[in-house]
Amino acid sequence: MNKQQNILVIGAGLCGSLLALRLGQRGYHVTVYEKRPDLRKVEISAGRSINLAFSDRGIKAMKLVGLEDKVQSLCIPMNGRMIHDQEGNSFLSNYSGRDYEYINSISRGELNALLLDEAEKHDHVTIHFNKKCQSVDFENTTALFFDYETKSDFVEDADIIIATDGAGSILRKSYFLGKKFLFSFSQDYLTHGYKELSILPTENGDYKTYKNALHIWPRGSFMLIALPNLDGSFTVTLFLSFDEGNYNFNNLTTPELVTEFFKKEFPDALQIMPNLIEDFFKNPTSPLGTVKCSPWHFKGNTLLMGDAAHAIVPFYGQGMNASFEDVVEFDAVLDKHKNPTSKSDWETIFKAYEHTRKKDTDAIADLAIDNFHEMKEHVNHDLFREKRNLEMALEKNFPNEYSSKYSLVTFNENIGYREAMLKGRAQDKAILNMLVEGDIDMHSDLRHVLDKVKIETEAILEDDRIAGLK
Ligand code: FAD
Repeated sequence: MNKQQNILVIGAGLCGSLLALRLGQRGYHVTVYEKRPDLRKVEISAGRSINLAFSDRGIKAMKLVGLEDKVQSLCIPMNGRMIHDQEGNSFLSNYSGRDYEYINSISRGELNALLLDEAEKHDHVTIHFNKKCQSVDFENTTALFFDYETKSDFVEDADIIIATDGAGSILRKSYFLGKKFLFSFSQDYLTHGYKELSILPTENGDYKTYKNALHIWPRGSFMLIALPNLDGSFTVTLFLSFDEGNYNFNNLTTPELVTEFFKKEFPDALQIMPNLIEDFFKNPTSPLGTVKCSPWHFKGNTLLMGDAAHAIVPFYGQGMNASFEDVVEFDAVLDKHKNPTSKSDWETIFKAYEHTRKKDTDAIADLAIDNFHEMKEHVNHDLFREKRNLEMALEKNFPNEYSSKYSLVTFNENIGYREAMLKGRAQDKAILNMLVEGDIDMHSDLRHVLDKVKIETEAILEDDRIAGLK
């Protein structure tokens, strides 16, 4: 067994620090290079999304590395979506009919810091900060870095290189620019971008609105959301078109216009956001996109993982969870194969990993786009609410027999995203068709409804199979 092999990891974000920890636990020599300063020592903005929705797939990864309890103390449970209408009324729509199924709000910085601390406990894991990767020579398994401290370049080599350097990955860029093999790559931007704002705590440090929910102000073509933080504040995110509609990021150029927009669209939020104008003009507006590519690896030399391989839009709250699940899946592939001692062993492992994983990350990318429309628009429709109420009742009354698409994706960590997507979409179609046709309603016998939904779902899945979708 050769565990002395050197693995170079580029990027010590959420995926890279978890990967380094897991590989360290498995006995590998791991060196991580991160371009930013150490977030445990220097106050740096995470750059985006201060807090994140953390759910069962992410928790499964924490269990793998033995951090479930430590992570729990960073979590704020969110039982459902608190929907706010334009008149300032609100109602809670639970994520599941099963009380024990909820998602959590977690701080990106705190979680990253915990993973870095745990990774560094392993003598053979070393993390270097302020070292920016500039390019990767994937044929020779070397990477060129710039050291911000010494202001000089240096080259590192390794047995294998794994890039977890996020959506703008340098390894992926090197694959693309290198033109040495057939590398497919797509990047699709939404017409909408996002800006982070905040609801600060009261003077006593209390939450200004209901703590245990993901708040949504859906407005059809745009929306505002808010997730709680442990200090009593909420991180608020405005998702809005760059240039379409009466109000957009390009034309909201003065404090008066921003106030007018919020007064009209989000009056209840405005009341608890006295710092709106300051936040709005201080914080950046950032784009949102989906990245798909293949292959993720070059022979047995290099591999893309996390957002570097599959960046998705944030509307299912699954990007980080999926990146953590990457590590779980990679670990399972390592378990199934003999200990890699050569490039060809690693190639077999990288291939097997990509084979099992890519279909699932493609699926969550598509589901995340669907959820963009659901969150900003559908959650406010009567038909959608009727369907959610029915699904909630089915989950409550038949906890072992029914899971909605949301539950399949979010709370069923033992089935892949693709399976969750196919089954969930078929169920949605079945229920919506039957509601529209008046075949079922909230007053029908629930056992009868469940049986009908199951039969109709199976018929739709069978059609999908015949059409080659499964
Ligand atoms: P990153 O977190 O991007 O980490 C990459 C790391 O690599 C960083 O530390 C970076 O500094 C470093 N790096 C980059 N380039 C280099 C280089 N050249 N050299 C060295 N180091 C480098 N996911 C969820 O699960 N739930 C959510 O609620 C959620 N909300 C989101 C909201 C928004 C607005 C956004 C944008 C994303 C959200 N996500 C969410 C997605 C989540 O942020 C990502 O999927 C997750 O951060 C991916 O982790 P990663 O480690 O692959 O990449």
